Amino acid sequence: MEKKEKLMKHIIAAVCIQCGAEYEADDNAYTCVKCGNVLDIKYDYGYIRGKLAKEKLASRTDYSMWRYKELLPVEEDSRLTPLRVGWSPLYKTERLGARLGLRNLYVKDDGQNPTSSLKDRASAIAVVRAQRAGMTTVACSSTGNAASSLAGNAAAMGLSSFIFVPERAPKGKVAQLMIFGARVISVQGNYEETFKLSAQAIERWGWYNRNAAINPYLLEGKKTVSLEIAEQLGFKSPDYVAVSVGDGCTIAGVWKGFKDLFEIGLIDKLPKLISVQADGCCPINRALETGKPIERMEENTIADSIAVGVPRNGEKALRAVRESQGITVNVSDEEIFEAMRLLGTVCGVFGEPAGVTGTAGLKKAAERGLIPPDALTVAIVTGNGLKDTASAQTAAGEPLRIPPDMDILTAEFKKRNIYF
Ligand SMILES: *Cc1c(COP(=O)(O)O)cnc(C)c1O
Ligand SMILES: [Zn+2]
Repeated sequence: MEKKEKLMKHIIAAVCIQCGAEYEADDNAYTCVKCGNVLDIKYDYGYIRGKLAKEKLASRTDYSMWRYKELLPVEEDSRLTPLRVGWSPLYKTERLGARLGLRNLYVKDDGQNPTSSLKDRASAIAVVRAQRAGMTTVACSSTGNAASSLAGNAAAMGLSSFIFVPERAPKGKVAQLMIFGARVISVQGNYEETFKLSAQAIERWGWYNRNAAINPYLLEGKKTVSLEIAEQLGFKSPDYVAVSVGDGCTIAGVWKGFKDLFEIGLIDKLPKLISVQADGCCPINRALETGKPIERMEENTIADSIAVGVPRNGEKALRAVRESQGITVNVSDEEIFEAMRLLGTVCGVFGEPAGVTGTAGLKKAAERGLIPPDALTVAIVTGNGLKDTASAQTAAGEPLRIPPDMDILTAEFKKRNIYF
């Protein structure tokens, strides 16, 4: 038999986070055969260090996540996504900072990805790997954004997609993936049941699996948000990074990105993570706070993208927050709406409920005096508000409704104390 050439020279192995078993990092290595846990991709930092110096990066003109190709699980000859994923803006926002009592506050608006959420970073990896492996169909289950990002990135790559969504997924997200030509299966059940059905279908029909719960390469895509934050800050590490947490893959990815940069010597310290969940669904934060294992929770929050009662990347998330000596904050739906209004009115940034949950948590942490006022702090907005206009309307209320009459307009302004 022909010996398979070892590809991806910059990757050492896929390692089980629980028992340490090592696997060749290929598309057969997903979860650990021995203990069933998720795997983590281990890089050859010595090899990468020589290839990814600051000056080299500075001269690159690829303003997308692929500018960090050396730190990603793709082959040198892989065809990359045609969509521009990543390199979202990092805004220094003095006015929001003033409101929160933070003098060095930045907002990373990841709603500005091609399908309007941070999930594009993971889906880009999925379609590139699927294409390289010669597969033509990709699939996932999702609360919405993983689905629409997979559908969009698959469409751009010329792959077809099967998407499983729980029936509560907001209409905007479902419409988005229908437009991208995905075959959509809306499951009458919660996220956990949707996930299980998708896993069975993927197994039965052999599609490429873009479930972050299983596929360890997706987190590698998500980590590019941190690579960008550091580079946009001139290779400085923030002191705090606030991020909303559902399954746990994103926050673990955020941590991995900073650790990668630390390992290859591009930053000289690591941030503390602020793990923000909703009061109505916070199994990861509860485990962090109590020191007990993660236990299932109901999914009671308006922030559908982080309503994950049984997180599959929970263990990775716990490790990330603990290693970073981070903090946990839970917020109510009302606090999420408040953050949505605040980001909109003070920064002009429109986030969906889960998109602004990190900012809601940061606000709460700052008000409690948990963040030093001078700390370099970044809030990641993970998804765009147009994805869920029903929630935006709940947060923002109704406009002034009047007939087309100047006298009535003037009277209404007066009644409401609107002067110029
Ligand atoms: C998926 C998602 C998150 C959380 O990511 P997890 O990996 O599930 O923790 C946060 N915000 C938005 C908008 C998302 O789509
Ligand atoms: Zn194991």
